[in-house]
Amino acid sequence: MRPLTYQRAAGVEDAVSLLAAAPAGAFLAGGTTEVDLIRAGVSHTDHLVDINALPLAGVAHMPDGGLQIGALARMSEVARTPAVVERYPAISQSLLLSASEQLRNMASMGGNMCQRTRCPYLRDGISPCNKREPGSGCAALDGLNRGHAILGTSQHCIATHPSDVAVPLVAFDAVVQTTGSGSDRSIPIDDFFLLPGDTPELEHPLAHGELIVSIDIPGAAVARRSTYLKVRDRQSYEFALVSVAAAVAVTDGIVTDVRLAWGGIGTKPWRARRAEAALIGGRADHDAYQQAAALELEDADVRGHNAFKVELAQRATVRALTQSMNGVQ
Ligand code: SF4
Repeated sequence: MRPLTYQRAAGVEDAVSLLAAAPAGAFLAGGTTEVDLIRAGVSHTDHLVDINALPLAGVAHMPDGGLQIGALARMSEVARTPAVVERYPAISQSLLLSASEQLRNMASMGGNMCQRTRCPYLRDGISPCNKREPGSGCAALDGLNRGHAILGTSQHCIATHPSDVAVPLVAFDAVVQTTGSGSDRSIPIDDFFLLPGDTPELEHPLAHGELIVSIDIPGAAVARRSTYLKVRDRQSYEFALVSVAAAVAVTDGIVTDVRLAWGGIGTKPWRARRAEAALIGGRADHDAYQQAAALELEDADVRGHNAFKVELAQRATVRALTQSMNGVQ
């Protein structure tokens, strides 16, 4: 049994300095991911700094009509917040389609941003896995890869990012606010999630001891029409094969604004910018939606078992954009 020590931080500065003094330590919020990884031997954390007493919960209004979600706000609390439901329905839906009610009551929004992939080879502790042991190889490349990514992959890792709520957050240009030893940072969420490239063990740009304090979502009128569609093998407690956060504004049959992001198919939550660019100013119909999705998927890198995701992503995208256009949530 490995020894594990524990401290409870009294404030934000206290939390940062406590973790800075523990090179192999980690922050503890809901613990729904970190404790699993410690038990599985994937995380080598030897010291936990409990941040649950910090004043970082809640959802606040921002002057531009956006929202500031505290890093310690629980997933279930954010999903039920009226301003989230009204202004960003895709965010509320994505949270309600995540995990289980018990986990949503425990898990924090900041922790959700930092959760690790569910690739089974990472968690089994014995298979070659460049995320767990850099340079050891990737068992998924020629293994069971039905659930793995087709966008943003590298020869070193093809794991999908598991978060649901990160998908609409990417679509709405959220910003991750952090604080660390002597400095604060604002990280656009698209830059927060790193592609695997040659360093799949690096999943986000946080320095050791850098703490997420909030996730800020800018105001966006189109987001009020948003929807989140999740396709999975069973209807509860399952990760996405493909998910879509979509919001489209249409005037006289022409797309005037659109947001589109995918989960379950990228090594990071995938903002479909090429598809968005193709849609703006064009007809708002089935064929245009299908062609835009196909354009974004031109670079898809499929493996032995996951080629089905290309067509599934196109179909899900058409459905999600149509639902948004028709005001169906
Ligand atoms: Fe590890 Fe990534 Fe390969 Fe999975 S896909 S085995 S996480 S390197």
